[in-house]
Amino acid sequence: MTETTTPAAAPEEGLNFVEQEIKADLEAGKNGGRLNTRFPPEPNGYLHIGHAKAIIMDFGSAEKFGGTCNLRFDDTNPQKEDTEYADAIKRDIHWLGYDWEDRLYYASDYFEKLYELAERMIREGKAYVDEQTSEQIAAQKGTPTQPGQHSPFRGRPVEESLDLFHRMNAGEFPEGAMVLRAKIDMASDNMHFRDPIMYRIIHAPHWRTGEKWKVYPMYDFAHGQSDYFEGVTHSICTLEFVPHRPLYEWFVKELADESYCPRQIEFNRLNLTYTVMSKRKLKQLVDEKLVSGWDDPRMPTLCGLRRRGYTPEAIKDFVRRIGYTKYEALNHIELLEHSARENLNKTATRVSVVVNPVKLILTNYPEGKTETVELTNNPEDPQSGTHEMPFSRELWIEREDFMENPPKKFFRLTPGGEVRLKGAYIIKCTGVKHGPDGEIEEIYAEYDPDTLSGMPGATRKVKGTLHWVSVPTAVEATVRDYDRLFSVENPSAEEGDFRDLLNPDSLKTRRVMMEPWLAQDLAPEKHYQFQRIGYYTVDPDTDEGRPVFNRTVGLKDPFAKILKQ
Ligand code: ATP
Ligand code: MG
Repeated sequence: MTETTTPAAAPEEGLNFVEQEIKADLEAGKNGGRLNTRFPPEPNGYLHIGHAKAIIMDFGSAEKFGGTCNLRFDDTNPQKEDTEYADAIKRDIHWLGYDWEDRLYYASDYFEKLYELAERMIREGKAYVDEQTSEQIAAQKGTPTQPGQHSPFRGRPVEESLDLFHRMNAGEFPEGAMVLRAKIDMASDNMHFRDPIMYRIIHAPHWRTGEKWKVYPMYDFAHGQSDYFEGVTHSICTLEFVPHRPLYEWFVKELADESYCPRQIEFNRLNLTYTVMSKRKLKQLVDEKLVSGWDDPRMPTLCGLRRRGYTPEAIKDFVRRIGYTKYEALNHIELLEHSARENLNKTATRVSVVVNPVKLILTNYPEGKTETVELTNNPEDPQSGTHEMPFSRELWIEREDFMENPPKKFFRLTPGGEVRLKGAYIIKCTGVKHGPDGEIEEIYAEYDPDTLSGMPGATRKVKGTLHWVSVPTAVEATVRDYDRLFSVENPSAEEGDFRDLLNPDSLKTRRVMMEPWLAQDLAPEKHYQFQRIGYYTVDPDTDEGRPVFNRTVGLKDPFAKILKQ
């Protein structure tokens, strides 16, 4: 896989290559100037960020050109599908901000029509029932440079194939006993034309059609025809379908006349570093409880990203940046994080939370006294207002913000050194108390009463500013800090079991101290910036009554400099 770059040629500003094709078709008056796309998920798992790229293309291009986009469940494999998945898929598309209105379809709606088409093709000598095993069929397939061999059943009488096909569907034969194949060309350069399988026997009940069918169409025999039945004009999919396109068109021609044929266009998949995108693998992580569920905040699923704190805007911005091309790429997760920071910077309320607390005592501040300081909710948003935070003699500060033996250029608190407490006074460290193991238990300091906003010393400059939370009114919360789900950049490219590549330290939980205003303000899925620390989002869980926050991303952005150039 190669790294992604912007497409080499982008002649039309703002339009990706697929949209340019669509525009050209519309301008040429194809399909009567109509645009109808579709998003065709198989309801056999939850949507991931790769699907978001397809959704943004399918729904987004329809939106851009005043067309429509169908949601069609590609439910041709009853063994793996479920309403739980279908419901989750609908929820996630809506979350991204798209709507199929009254255009909700199912490939299973077309089982009848597809079955009739198959019967017709048998009668016309274009399909036959093959009683060989899948191994035998595979062995006869040949290679791209060597033609395949004809099945011994290829020449069987039409009536025999028709009778067997009906009996396949009546449940007379076990799974795998026989299949229906198209009779095309066992010597074709395109392997997909070497008598592709149209139908197989499956005895599992289907979540929508129940026990009605015992034969189910293969993807290649269902997809193009479904597009055709719905009047889809542009069937946009990923690059692995390029070699399927001739077969797609071949099957559609069995139905279509010259006036209308859906057009398949392919773009590159989204692949993200440090994760996997295969639904089968993601399901395995869930089933084997290697993550907490499909919505585990480390998962690349849309529900996982949502729970982690990623917004639809961030995901759309990321997809816009990586673009749509005709070559495969591996996309950096840091770029997605960059998009999240950019979005959350504009929208997230700033709050004071100390994530690794140590006690600071201001020895010259009166005991029992409380003052109130005002914090700006979001300096990026003038409308966001302010909130109040109590100040007192005892404060929580970050353990990392104090060093007894600091290196040069450590501008935070040190013995004898001065810092400003954000929104409040300048303080000077006067000493520390060590615990039995030598760890620091308390830090002592004196505050300069002349340095509050509005006072003569307010403008006095010190190098460091620390965030803090007042001890008596602090409220405890739990934060979940996440790291990469996998410890290698591209787990799918590695040999061996992908599960062995999981990062064992991808979740760390800790107890933190938050300012009291936040405890009143928070609600599930709300985003905050913990000042100087990162972006955090409220989780639906609680931890023995304490609120739980998920770290979306830290504040440090490795991409910021590169992207500014
Ligand atoms: P499966 O292996 O189960 O077929 P799939 O990821 O292809 O998995 P589908 O439900 O068939 O899942 O996908 C629906 C649509 O999403 C398809 O059009 C597919 O091309 C697109 N899609 C899937 N994965 C990606 C990805 N990583 N990037 C972009 N589009 C994707
Ligand atoms: Mg698929």
